[in-house]
Amino acid sequence: IPGLHVVATPIGNLGDVTLRALATLAAADLIVCEDTRVTARLTNHYGIGATLLAYNDHNAPRMRPQILNRLNSGQAVALVSDAGTPMVSDPGFKLVREAIEAGVAVFSAPGPSAALAALTLAGLPTDRFFFEGFLPARDGARVNRLAELKTIPATLIFYESGPRLADSLAAMATALGDRSATVARELTKAFETVYRGTLVSLATDFALADEPRGEIVVIVGPPVEERASEHDMEASLAVALDSLSVKDA
Ligand code: SAM
Repeated sequence: IPGLHVVATPIGNLGDVTLRALATLAAADLIVCEDTRVTARLTNHYGIGATLLAYNDHNAPRMRPQILNRLNSGQAVALVSDAGTPMVSDPGFKLVREAIEAGVAVFSAPGPSAALAALTLAGLPTDRFFFEGFLPARDGARVNRLAELKTIPATLIFYESGPRLADSLAAMATALGDRSATVARELTKAFETVYRGTLVSLATDFALADEPRGEIVVIVGPPVEERASEHDMEASLAVALDSLSVKDA
């Protein structure tokens, strides 16, 4: 089918690909990907012979017009990223926007994303969640961003790297308080590991442990409603009783 097809691919385990994703990739005139070597591993595994074109932050402004030309001439173009769902902390948004502006049909072949995979095994509330992706690398910017997130009444989802994990958890504990949290590493892969605790306990554990290898999602529970301290309760009770006795009098 002519148009731009946004296709989700596995986040590790090559079995996590939909039948429709494979059919869409096999039928595409062109597969636009971040890194042709990474996507070739998937297409070779499934015997798909379509042409691959690299589209990433470095060459996007140069490649976008070429891709749009193909779309405008009625070709079927598939957009994938190295792993998971395109545009979730990955390139593609401007291509989709310009395709829409050009009147090209845009389709989604949905599938895996590390954010949702981690959310589903975290054991934290899922009714409301906020996807932050990668925090800024610099300390100051990270502190400012966490301050913005502090009052969001939802579970928070972060992408992280092994080298930054311990520092990030410590910054989160300081900025957000000691909330429940889950660290999910290497999801769907051989060394999948899930660590559950609180921000303080996880920050302490990872500060002492070797730097974790592989890909990581951090899920942080929502702010806990502040329970009034016993002292506050007594004070409010006294005020309430006082007003009652005034009325009674
Ligand atoms: N578009 C992808 C998605 O939908 O999940 C995310 C791309 S982003 C550039 C890569 C980050 O996603 C990694 O640094 C890690 O935080 C997370 N990630 C990807 N695959 C993962 C996996 N198998 N286990 C844990 N985290 C993963």
